[in-house]
Amino acid sequence: MKFCEYCGKSFDDDRETCPDCGAKLRSLQNGEDEDNALTVIEMMMLGLL
Ligand SMILES: [Zn+2]
Repeated sequence: MKFCEYCGKSFDDDRETCPDCGAKLRSLQNGEDEDNALTVIEMMMLGLL
């Protein structure tokens, strides 16, 4: 499963980019799913970016 950090959605592994926004997808880490993975907006709010 891959994840768009901008849309907060997950997609099939065979996709490289998000069909919605065109951003590069990243693989979800162990224990992450689309509901708890941090999006770029959330990381900015937390001061991580
Ligand atoms: Zn996207």
